[in-house]
Amino acid sequence: TAAPVTIIGLGLMGSALAAAFLKAGHPTTVWNRTTAKADRLVAEGAEQAPTIGAALKASPLTIVCLTDYQAVRELLGEHEADLDGTTLINLTSGDSAQARETARWAERNGARYLDGAIMAVPSAIGTAEAVILHSGPGPEFAAHEPTLAALGTVTHLGADPGLASLYDVAGLAMMWSVLNAWLQGTALLGTAGVDAASYAPFARQIATVVAGWLPGYAEQVDAGSYPAEVSALETDARAMAHLIEESEAAGVNADLPKLLKAMADRSIAAGHGAEQYPVLIEEFAKPTP
Ligand code: NDP
Repeated sequence: TAAPVTIIGLGLMGSALAAAFLKAGHPTTVWNRTTAKADRLVAEGAEQAPTIGAALKASPLTIVCLTDYQAVRELLGEHEADLDGTTLINLTSGDSAQARETARWAERNGARYLDGAIMAVPSAIGTAEAVILHSGPGPEFAAHEPTLAALGTVTHLGADPGLASLYDVAGLAMMWSVLNAWLQGTALLGTAGVDAASYAPFARQIATVVAGWLPGYAEQVDAGSYPAEVSALETDARAMAHLIEESEAAGVNADLPKLLKAMADRSIAAGHGAEQYPVLIEEFAKPTP
């Protein structure tokens, strides 16, 4: 039989999590500050706990999904004694420092703690498209993975509880960079009467080709050695200057290419002009000047 699970927080996301557990046949206990948000889930078979203490005691595994970490600490901070012996998985969005701090707090109170980041909208929960990242003690994840699988594609990234949040923002860095690069090109081509739909397949092809470079470039970064096998950073910087000039001449925004060029110029000034592009990690890996 499926393992029991408790959900604390029945907002849009918490309700979707609870519904997915119910659908997968897990005895599901729920608690929410605004009690009426449990009504639909109770009609579908959930048990509504009268108190947070009862919610925590109802299942060996409790998943919490509130607005932010402050809400988690405010709410569960009043029930620290009930955390002893439970496993707590916090799927609330936050940063890595909050995740690590919350892990220490939970462990001080006798709980086992995993942090998580949900990379999906509520309607995707319960399907393979819902990617949910976890970090914290590996054996704890392994013990509850069969239960968590009801939510979607669940992965464990490592023992550091901050990793789920870090992967989450690293994913956003990729997403926005690809989207902004595409918008830059779309604006440029738009000045020649090319519509976005015509450029999109070309842009997609470039993004796919560049994505294919990542494993090889990652080897250079991990080795700390950047021989120019394809092109030197100086050559790339000249192309960046060209992108800036074209953008300015066309009357489109040049902020993004200027930022790229400024970083390359700093790396060249530090003596890396003859090395390959990933040497820029040395600029990215230190604070903004
Ligand atoms: P909602 O605003 O729908 O729900 C927020 C929940 O937090 C409610 O259950 C609310 O209770 C509860 N809450 C907030 N403050 C407190 C408090 N001080 N004490 C007790 N309960 C509190 O948000 P979502 O469900 O959409 O999001 C929840 C988390 O999931 C967030 O961290 C969000 O970033 C993350 N997430 C959401 C996604 C989405 O698409 N919705 C996608 C990925 C992550 P009450 O009902 O009583 O107000």
